[in-house]
This record gives sequence, structure tokens and C-alpha cells, in this order.
Amino acid sequence: MASLLPFFIFASLSLVNAKSNSTFTPINRDLYHSSADLLEQIKALVHRHPDKLTVETIKTGNRGYKAEMSVVTYCRSRKEADDRTKFRILLSFGQHGRELITTELAFRILSILSEEQFLPDVDAASLNNILDKLVIKVVPMENVNGRKLVEGGDLCERRNGRGVDLNRNWSVDWGKKEKDYDPYEENPGTGPFSEPETQIMRKLALTFDPHIWVNVHSGMEALFMPYDHRNTTPDGAPSEQMRSLLSKLNNVHCHKRCMIGSGGGSVGFVLLKTENLSIQNLLLSIFSRETTTIVVS
Ligand SMILES: [Zn+2]
Repeated sequence: MASLLPFFIFASLSLVNAKSNSTFTPINRDLYHSSADLLEQIKALVHRHPDKLTVETIKTGNRGYKAEMSVVTYCRSRKEADDRTKFRILLSFGQHGRELITTELAFRILSILSEEQFLPDVDAASLNNILDKLVIKVVPMENVNGRKLVEGGDLCERRNGRGVDLNRNWSVDWGKKEKDYDPYEENPGTGPFSEPETQIMRKLALTFDPHIWVNVHSGMEALFMPYDHRNTTPDGAPSEQMRSLLSKLNNVHCHKRCMIGSGGGSVGFVLLKTENLSIQNLLLSIFSRETTTIVVS
């Protein structure tokens, strides 16, 4: 898998430079789609490639709050999308509303997978040979409601539409306060999985059972592996394999600029609170200009 992963990571668009509300710079529409336009374009892309792509919209809600999420499934032969012998990858973007660039990356990846765009210097035959073995599910915009707040002028908003950090709403160490805990930014909600968006992601992860999960964020240059919720890394061969993979990615695609290691240990604070799913996988996190969380079996 190492040969495939790099192209998910090095789309190096510039970061949005969000200002405070009072003097905010309007979002540059030459760089970033609106959420509605982006999702519309992704759906149009899917409809142009029914042989490879499908899209479903999942809706749920509670206590007067509703959320919906588009999930795109890629398989080079669509009929084989449920073939459990294939390697399964889950890519999620836009968990934090203000990280606009991540959803652009989702669109770019889907454009490449549908062969409307192409990677430079990549042998198409060998890439297709790898893609033949995969099923990829893409969540282009996990936090649509939070994104809309950002588009309404609240440019620094990372939380969902009712003020909960979806990256603190999972059950591992839920509600645990780290030294640098920011109650505004990191509001974990009323309990684990209190938020519809988190419920959708959890269900998707459990049913799809991915070998790799990449949760793309923006904000720093780093390639992270487990654990995110504590200041250590797992023991054993899988951990060493993950570190080796991250190191290779860093060397080949990131000009060796990325921090590598456990999310919790490398940045000196506990970064993510993603649930350790019962699936027999391990969690990687990759941060570069895109921050990425990966699960690898
Ligand atoms: Zn983020």
C-alpha cells in the first residue's frame, strides 16, 4: 500500500488565512468552493462516472439538530464494491469547519480516481493495477453545518453547527481534559457520540471496516501514528511498519519536513480522541499542510 498512499497527501494548496470576524478577509472563491458548490460538483462527478463511483447521503439528528453527510464510494469495477477481499480505505475530510483546503483535496482525489485529472509522473498502468485491488470511501465534508458557519463569516470555527468539536466527541478518553484544554475549541459534547456527525462516522467505520482510515485536517506539517489520545506509541511490528511508512512518505513527498510519530507524543499534547474501533486495525495520523488520520491493518 505504500506505493499508493503518497498521492493522497501531497496536494499542496495554500492554507486559508482566517482573520477575526470584525476584519475578516472574505473567502477567496478562486481558491475555495462554497460547500454547496463543492458537494454539487462532487455529485456531478459521480454521475459522470457511474461505472466507478456512487454517492449516498446519510442523514440523522437529535434534540432538534440535524446533520447530513455525503459518502462517495470508489471501485474501478463498481459491481465489486462489496467484494470483501479488496483492500478498503476510508478517507474523511472537513471534520473541522475552518479547514477549507481539506475538502478541496477530497474533490481533487475524486477527480483523479475518476480519471478526469491525472497525477504527474505516475505510471497509469501500475496505478490502475493498485486501484483494481481497492474500494475507497470518501467523506468530502464531515462537518457541513460547521462549514456553513465559517462561510457565514465565523472563519475560525472548527466545531459543528451546535458548538461541539467532532474530534473530541468519540468515546476514547471522552471528556478528559489535557493541560492545554480549551473548553471553547474542544467542547466534547454532552457525551460520547452525542453528535449526529460522529454517529454517522462511527457507523460508517464499523460497517465498512476499513484497513486504512485517513482523516484529513490542515494546520501543520506532520505525519502521525497512534496513539493520539496518549503520549506513547503502540508496541510491536505493526507500529514499526507504520513508522516506516510515514518515514517513507515524508522522504518521498514531504521533503522530510514533517513531524513523525504518535499524535499525542509528537506534538506534546493529546491531539485526537478518535475511538479505538474494535476492528483489528491500527491508527495512523498524518499531518502536513493536510492533517490526516489513518487506520492500517
Ligand atoms: Zn482539524
